[in-house]
Amino acid sequence: MSNRYSRQELFSPIGKKGQDRIRNKHVLIIGAGALGAGNAESLVRAGIGRLTIADRDYVESSNLQRQQLYTEQDVKNRLPKAIAAKKRLTQINSDVTIDALVMDVSVEEMEKLVRGVDVIIDATDNFDTRMIINDISQKYKTPWIYGACVGSYGLSYTFIPGKTPCLQCLLHTVPIGGLTCDTAGIISPTVQMVVAHQVTEALKILVEDDKVLLSKLVSFDLWKNDHTAINVDSLRRGTCTSCGNSPIYPYLHPDNQTKTAVLCGRDTVQIRPPRQTPRDLVTLADKLSKLGGKISQNDFLLSYSSGAIRMVVFKDGRVLIHGTKDVVEAKTLYHRYIE
Ligand SMILES: [Zn+2]
Repeated sequence: MSNRYSRQELFSPIGKKGQDRIRNKHVLIIGAGALGAGNAESLVRAGIGRLTIADRDYVESSNLQRQQLYTEQDVKNRLPKAIAAKKRLTQINSDVTIDALVMDVSVEEMEKLVRGVDVIIDATDNFDTRMIINDISQKYKTPWIYGACVGSYGLSYTFIPGKTPCLQCLLHTVPIGGLTCDTAGIISPTVQMVVAHQVTEALKILVEDDKVLLSKLVSFDLWKNDHTAINVDSLRRGTCTSCGNSPIYPYLHPDNQTKTAVLCGRDTVQIRPPRQTPRDLVTLADKLSKLGGKISQNDFLLSYSSGAIRMVVFKDGRVLIHGTKDVVEAKTLYHRYIE
């Protein structure tokens, strides 16, 4: 397929030289939901050399409306998103090296994953992880591209260590928090618009065309026909603990890491053991079967339901407790059934 990238090479800011650069680059995508799936598909089609995609969740039917890599069969098989994503991405472009990781990316893992990465794409739905990405980006001088969306509203920004303000700087002034939950619903064009910004910025970084990078915080509301771009250059703070003159990267410290998380708009609490050790699902299934209830299993996870209780246990030790947003209640159920 020698003409595979001909249209992209004809685009003069990329050209053959840019295409060669793209082929030799490595992108890390954190999250394989709507934003992660969109970014991954575009970058794989664009001929990225290597793609690492990490996600903690599995495919559900409510994802299919906007998460473009997934199918009804993935829902039936309850496949982890990272695995389902890799399956589809490999069908699209078999030349790309794809690392699919079923995990809740913690600081320890992020420190390993970022090595050799040219750009990190934020496709998460929470600020806990974004703050970790932000500090990792500063520590390892790796650019990252923020993206968030809810309803018909979306936001994006490109963080370049040493040049732009960091996320901590922005959070001091710009009200970009609170956009973490999809309880307000979402339409798929919102996702596509954020993905368009993120992929374009990623391509500029990959072909090393830094001078045309966005350098503005873009936001839009597709339903209300609003589009804005705010210059935030002046918000960089010398005293910032992440990007300032004496950085301490506070979010990489163990005290600042969350062990339980309420998953966005899902009535679900995730519990992550302090040390992630592989869990023996066979033994656990045996134990749970004695309590009654329904158990189903595949190579990656075990699902257990009894009455109103539903929980999913992943091989890496994480547990999702469905049907509650209450962390304490979730922990109680966790200790009752799992530990
Ligand atoms: Zn900063």
